[in-house]
Amino acid sequence: MPNPLDKIKTQVKKLSAYTLNAPECRVKINQNENPYDMPEEIKTQVLARLANRPWSRYPTFVPVDLLVTMARFSSWRADGILAGNGSNELIQALLTVTVGPGTKVLISEPTFTLYRLLIEILGGEVISLPLTSDLQYDTDLIKHTVIEKAIDLVIICSPNNPTGGVIKDKDLIELLTDFSGLVILDEAYHEFSEHTVVPLLKQFSNLIVLRTFSKAMAMAGLRVGYLLSHPDLAREIAKAKLPYNLNFFSLTAAIVTMEHFDLLAPIINKLIAERERLFTALSQIPGLQPIPSQANFILTKTSISPSELMAKLQAKDILARDVSRYPMLNNYVRFSVGTEKENNELIETLQEIFTNHPIVGQNLPLN
Ligand code: PMP
Repeated sequence: MPNPLDKIKTQVKKLSAYTLNAPECRVKINQNENPYDMPEEIKTQVLARLANRPWSRYPTFVPVDLLVTMARFSSWRADGILAGNGSNELIQALLTVTVGPGTKVLISEPTFTLYRLLIEILGGEVISLPLTSDLQYDTDLIKHTVIEKAIDLVIICSPNNPTGGVIKDKDLIELLTDFSGLVILDEAYHEFSEHTVVPLLKQFSNLIVLRTFSKAMAMAGLRVGYLLSHPDLAREIAKAKLPYNLNFFSLTAAIVTMEHFDLLAPIINKLIAERERLFTALSQIPGLQPIPSQANFILTKTSISPSELMAKLQAKDILARDVSRYPMLNNYVRFSVGTEKENNELIETLQEIFTNHPIVGQNLPLN
């Protein structure tokens, strides 16, 4: 009998699937979601608009209203924007039209694991550079390697998931200037860094920016992301996007959310302030060493093994993220910034765990 699996690409069979095995916990700080949920006023408006629309009809082929609202919201042109079912879908579409056997894609790891997975599925070559020892982008090494290795594409996640570091505009501009390939800048967490690279699109036609509604915009459950680039690039990438990829529920919610961003802005500011408060509290717990973050999560080195720490937190109904399998991060966990109350609970629980741990700070070196 022929084995049907013989027809699956060899490189795919070697890969592990992107999965998340997460138990239910009361305090959920494992996926960098907005813990405050969408303001009620926005939910009510979305539901009213949906009630007035026939559900039996497809969404419009090109979601013009959404793209025009995104253009106004991001200060970029509508014909240079694509909307997707989460930014994941756009990462996939973008890599589908650019990556094949022989394509060299440079990433700095640890970073968001989906990039490597998709590049490998498509048969491209991942050129991986480490972050610096303090987990920042090694921009000199990146600039040097893109030329030396004749790289086609560079993917930079800024703020980076799971480390929280950013690339400076100056370094990004130098890279965009000297390098003739494409630079993909995933700014899924940009609101928390109070910075965006979108203004650089005017100057650099080799820049592609990715954004999402899943984090600051409090819409992870509805799956909306967008891509911003030169219109010629957007037109090509659109060819790999499925028709009607965005359902009108999500599309409507994204429009109303942008129209009422004034209701979300204070929540985002609150999360930024909470991140700073959480950072200070974590750095005062012996056995923990948080890494400064520009996102809504804090990568933290722990003297208790990550799996043991996760188990102790879960016993208190707190779900954080064990990132110890990422390169360079074998002693690390990641805490998403929760509500003020959740952060207090996390801090108190960690203080208790580390105070009661008999060999605190000794079983794993902190540096
Ligand atoms: N980029 C980064 C850096 C992320 O961390 C995530 C989600 N974890 C995504 C993209 C995907 O987000 P979306 O929900 O928009 O698909």
